[in-house]
Amino acid sequence: MIVLNQDISLAQIADEIEAILSDHEGHSLHEIIDGDEPLRPIIDFDLPIEMLNAISSKLSDKQAKNTFCNAFRDVCLEIFPKWDKKTISIADSSDAKKISLHVSTFGTRLPSIAQVAIFTELVRKKLPAGLQDKGIVDNIANKRSFSLQMLGSPKYNEKTEKHVRIKKAICPKDGSIFDFMIRPPNDESEIIDNSPLLAVPETESVKYANISNETTIAEFELVETLLQEASIEGYSLSYPSENFPDKFPLSRISPSHCPICDREHNSDNAYIIRNKKSYSFFCYRANNNREPSSRKLLKKLTISETALDRERKLLTPVKLE
Ligand SMILES: [Zn+2]
Repeated sequence: MIVLNQDISLAQIADEIEAILSDHEGHSLHEIIDGDEPLRPIIDFDLPIEMLNAISSKLSDKQAKNTFCNAFRDVCLEIFPKWDKKTISIADSSDAKKISLHVSTFGTRLPSIAQVAIFTELVRKKLPAGLQDKGIVDNIANKRSFSLQMLGSPKYNEKTEKHVRIKKAICPKDGSIFDFMIRPPNDESEIIDNSPLLAVPETESVKYANISNETTIAEFELVETLLQEASIEGYSLSYPSENFPDKFPLSRISPSHCPICDREHNSDNAYIIRNKKSYSFFCYRANNNREPSSRKLLKKLTISETALDRERKLLTPVKLE
């Protein structure tokens, strides 16, 4: 599943998503969330066992899972007193090292992704102090993309050729396993649009807009430096568009050698995909020529000492208020 903050068509983003996924080994596309239609609340809890053992409340992993689910339940009841707690659904892909839970409900929907963000904060504040870390309670609304291993789309380990950590969504009421979707077709569950707890403060929506569209001059210069470091020449770099905030287009200005195709191109364009703090180069020609089932080819752009100085400029905190 992919969550996108921006209202763009699915056809437009298919290529971009594939690029992001090819950078995230093992994730596959299941559900795309775009636009701002009502959707089921969902929380992604990720807690390394090491971190669990370090907190003072000394919870077992089972107790920690219960704590997460109870916080979710309590917030559902607060925003929607008629909520049926039997509609909670839990997808567990924990292993020996990490608790990993996706908790959702098919009993209610929230009007938009902004409300999911507020819902997430309400749940986070219900947790014991040691578990309130933002790394543990993931706010999917703050991510440009969000992918979830689903039943039927298991994580594939290429080395062992085995499928691992299949995420199953289980209804605790009767143990039935079902497809875990955030915006399923023909969903008629009630939309909570009158809870004062879920009111979106004005500053919050401004903040989201800023985060999703911001590419600073310093970052643009960093990407230019990365291209030079990788000896990728012959292109002119552009800022990302509003619709594809993580894609830096590269337009051909002179013939040059392509590191992916290992040959000279004289007309093909290319692009850079930003994924958090890392950048990868993609060639349209290579994308078009690949076998249908094969992974998209990319070249990771790494940061050297000189580029690190520029990177530091990017880390200067910016006040968004
Ligand atoms: Zn190429």
